[in-house]
Amino acid sequence: MQLEKYSFGLGDRFGRQGKAQLQALLAAKADGVNIVPVWNKSHREHTIMGTRPEQTYKAAEEAVKTLGWQDSFYVDADHIQITNVDLFIASSNFFTIDIADSIGRNAEDDKINDFLEKFSKYLGSLTIPGIDEPLNVNENQLSSIAHKYLKAIEEAGSIYRHIQSVKGKDNFITEVSIDETDTPQTPAELFFILAAIADQDIPAQTIAPKFTGSFLKGIDYIGDIEQFAKEFEQHLAIISFAVKEFGLPENLKLSIHSGSDKFSLYKPINKALKKYDAGLHIKTAGTTWLEELTALASADGEGLSIARRIYVDAYSRFDELCAPYSSVIDIAKERLPSPSAVGKWSSDDFVSAVRHNPSCSQYNVNVRQLLHLAYKIAAEMGAEFTNALEQYQEHISPAVTENIYQRHIKPLFIEQD
Ligand SMILES: [Zn+2]
Repeated sequence: MQLEKYSFGLGDRFGRQGKAQLQALLAAKADGVNIVPVWNKSHREHTIMGTRPEQTYKAAEEAVKTLGWQDSFYVDADHIQITNVDLFIASSNFFTIDIADSIGRNAEDDKINDFLEKFSKYLGSLTIPGIDEPLNVNENQLSSIAHKYLKAIEEAGSIYRHIQSVKGKDNFITEVSIDETDTPQTPAELFFILAAIADQDIPAQTIAPKFTGSFLKGIDYIGDIEQFAKEFEQHLAIISFAVKEFGLPENLKLSIHSGSDKFSLYKPINKALKKYDAGLHIKTAGTTWLEELTALASADGEGLSIARRIYVDAYSRFDELCAPYSSVIDIAKERLPSPSAVGKWSSDDFVSAVRHNPSCSQYNVNVRQLLHLAYKIAAEMGAEFTNALEQYQEHISPAVTENIYQRHIKPLFIEQD
């Protein structure tokens, strides 16, 4: 199983927008750009929603069948660890092995020594095509990289082998994710992480490093765009060098866990992908749920009243909703409008506050982040909410397609400078 050059991670919390999402990829295909869908849902999302991975697979399969999608499609066991991978094995063909929790745990001394010996030939000045300055790693630095990451990569190896023992070799895609950690990896760290991945015989096809800046849920990138662009290009250069050097899968590519809607990064990413003729996996999730909610709100009547109620409940359960996402949100509670104010909002007021449009004075990143978390409230509404999704599907479906195609795919993969 070989992941295509461009793949798009889609989240569909309520399992009803698969067709609308796929329409966006069909639109890209009509433009001559092939992008395959990867439906991702993490253990955290399943737990909050009360859903199971089989449902994600079924919804994906149904969308693909209904639209006659001919290319591959994938279901991503997103951010799995050894403790929950078994729940996902039967109904996933893409596994994002998250080893962030093991970063910094020390491997055994003899394993570290073996690693240092094996890769000491890369010490000193090492020229990587595409990076101006040669890497310059000394023995101490390599040792601290090994102490920081080797144990975590060993952990990835054992999770990989566990999945392989059930699914069989080459029957799934492996991603290694180290994005949910404190500090971005340097080019040298990424290089030796890839060495360790190859040494563990993990046929990783995507790798998700942590980049500089903040990737908060549902809102734009916060950070130094130029620095991001520089890191992104350096990582592309490291990957293409490491693939040859360590015999990793030739299609190994970067995976960006975007948290959705990092619009200001799309242009530099597009430019870099063209420059290096590189592939990309872009992971989004909550952006579709927010389209469902804004489309409901825009539909006046009952749709608007459900959207308002979701806000009011989310506001009153602020701490509880924020807890599982504390490291990936930054909500200024005092900037949230009061429930009584939102109770009087028109459709336009609601949509303007939530829609990701920085030039709109009513757009409120705090409201958008809070509502990103509020899918839990909608899930608890049960049939009332899912019936509303059915009832307003005519509004929702085009909004979901347009969001993925116009706002994500076009700037990332299609638009020329
Ligand atoms: Zn992630």
